[in-house]
Amino acid sequence: MERVSFSGTAIERLRSGRVLVLTGAGVSAESGLATFRGEGGLWEGRDPVELATPEAFRRDPKTVWRFYTERREKAAQASPNAGHRALAALEEALGERFLLVTQNVDGLHERAGNRRIVRLHGSLWRLRCTRCGDEDEDLDLTASHRCRCGGRRRPGVVWFGEPLPEGAYEQAAEAAARADIVLVAGTSSIVYPAAGLPEIGREAGAWTVEINPERTAISDRVDERVPAASGSALPALVEASSPGAD
Ligand SMILES: [Zn+2]
Repeated sequence: MERVSFSGTAIERLRSGRVLVLTGAGVSAESGLATFRGEGGLWEGRDPVELATPEAFRRDPKTVWRFYTERREKAAQASPNAGHRALAALEEALGERFLLVTQNVDGLHERAGNRRIVRLHGSLWRLRCTRCGDEDEDLDLTASHRCRCGGRRRPGVVWFGEPLPEGAYEQAAEAAARADIVLVAGTSSIVYPAAGLPEIGREAGAWTVEINPERTAISDRVDERVPAASGSALPALVEASSPGAD
């Protein structure tokens, strides 16, 4: 494991303060998952960004479903990595002092054990009826795309041009304003409003830490930058902040 170090302030606040963690695509990428959102990769020669819209689903639901079925399959085959496991351990240790806000839709945080979680962009594992609005968790890859009411079900993810799930951003922003430390891991911080959360925390007095091998849009506006992959930085941070470590 590469050597990663954190400031005394970060360690201190993790030990005794309220902790908000914001995660994004990079954390999933370390489990081998492409996320597509805002990225340049193609799927069957098409820009996934064009498939991830309500208009695309209305026009061609079969193709959009094929894209999402493939993403559900890949997510099901992937495993939580060391970064996911470190965040589950952190929640276990901190309880109500901890909240995870994620832009990821693949369910790997949940599979690692996190329960105190706000999913800003929804989940691949929730299906919602476009007619009656009924929404369920559905882990079955061959689940019917028809609702009991006869309407068409869609993936419960947030598509381009759609609002975030009701109350999700408000809950995240409130936690950011109360946090003593905000950790941002594996996100390019260009997708708003998630990208604004560290700023809300910082203005309210939180210590902000960015964990990312690459510089991002917020790199100049955080208190501390850790230029490392989340899979090595998060376990190191959890270890350094656990009681008895020095
Ligand atoms: Zn329905």
